Amino acid sequence: MAVVGAGIVGMSAAHFLSRAGWQVTVYDAGVVASGATGSADGAVSVASKKPGPLMTLAVAAVKFYEQLVATGILVDEYLPRSTFVVASDQEELAVLERHAGELEAAGVPIRMLRGAALMDVIGAAAPAAIAAAEVQREGHAVGYRVVERLRQLGGFTIRRNCRVSGFKSSNGRITGVMTEQGIESTDAVLLATGIGSMHFLAEAGLIRPRKGQLIVTDRAGADSPHFPGPLMSCRYLVSKGSQPAGSTAASRSLGLVIDPLRTGQFLIGGSREDRDDRETADADVVATLLRDAVALSPSLAQLRVIRVFSGLRAATRDGMPIVGNVGGADNVWIATGFEGDGICLGPMIGRLCQQMICGESPEQDISALDAARFGLTLAAAA
Ligand SMILES: Cc1cc2nc3c(=O)[nH]c(=O)nc-3n(C[C@H](O)[C@H](O)[C@H](O)COP(=O)(O)OP(=O)(O)OC[C@H]3O[C@@H](n4cnc5c(N)ncnc54)[C@H](O)[C@@H]3O)c2cc1C
Repeated sequence: MAVVGAGIVGMSAAHFLSRAGWQVTVYDAGVVASGATGSADGAVSVASKKPGPLMTLAVAAVKFYEQLVATGILVDEYLPRSTFVVASDQEELAVLERHAGELEAAGVPIRMLRGAALMDVIGAAAPAAIAAAEVQREGHAVGYRVVERLRQLGGFTIRRNCRVSGFKSSNGRITGVMTEQGIESTDAVLLATGIGSMHFLAEAGLIRPRKGQLIVTDRAGADSPHFPGPLMSCRYLVSKGSQPAGSTAASRSLGLVIDPLRTGQFLIGGSREDRDDRETADADVVATLLRDAVALSPSLAQLRVIRVFSGLRAATRDGMPIVGNVGGADNVWIATGFEGDGICLGPMIGRLCQQMICGESPEQDISALDAARFGLTLAAAA
């Protein structure tokens, strides 16, 4: 079995496939976690998800992280915590109330915070908030650490700096993987190649890079206000497409999350930019994010910015990931297009891919992600 891509999706699939008895080789053009997995925040979060199948899958994905901790696989790599979705004006409040209602309808535990309760819980961290929804029972995991844990657990081979350029096929089945080092035979292929997936697919423009810039501060001092969890502005929901913009004047591309890390630092982000695919940072975006962050949480102005980084999310045409069999070869599967949700969904998707590839019914309903909705086929060059 060849898994192409050593991000969180490919490495999770490799883990579960090898435990199901497959002999797995993972190929990556770079190193492990060198794609989006290595440049993400780690929100394992239902709070930001679009209502519908994605929100339902995220609820299951959070429980899956809990299982991976309980079974020893991700011990110490998953931090349970609440997320606080915050409204700072009346327009954001309308978004907050709608989204909180949809989260509750999906069975997510929510606590609405207003007045004295709001002040008690997040007043010190976010004095500008007029209301918040505490989305309980979710968490945080660092993508590259999850992947590193799976690598350490082993059971499969990893080929680094080994770009896959195409496949050899015979009678409608893939029989070999083509790399610069030659052709290696295989009995099945899973493409977990993030934004690199377009190289393998005949459909042009289905997946495009969506850049995100993130800011890291230094550690807060002992006298800094307590942050009970990450603060997510309602603008973030709009920028992610999880809620319609409505009359909100806020920018569609600059959502705001202020994430207090275990180290005492803060991660502030993140933009959603479709204008280029360069992993660069620019002063305009960084300055706007910092201004917005300080407007919500003035104590952040005391901290120094020590790093800015960016990464590329794989965004699909309809905003949903793509998981399933690729037409034209009955032993090729794909799992891609996770945009800003792959750290949350990745481990569970790896398990569901293993079930699909083993001919079992996946334990979650992933029909909304089915690759067949685009009639996907492999590119001639692949
Ligand atoms: C700024 C930012 C913040 C984010 N924050 C969050 C968050 O808080 N929560 C969340 O859930 N998600 C978040 N995400 C999204 C998350 O990072 C991705 O959805 C997830 O990492 C996708 O994982 P993947 O395995 O599908 O792809 P990737 O991690 O991109 O891995 C794909 C791999 O395939 C390899 N590859 C590509 N083409 C080839 C080829 N031809 N041959 C061999 N190898 C190839 C690449 O080198 C790469 O290593 C964020 C992303 C960004 C950019």
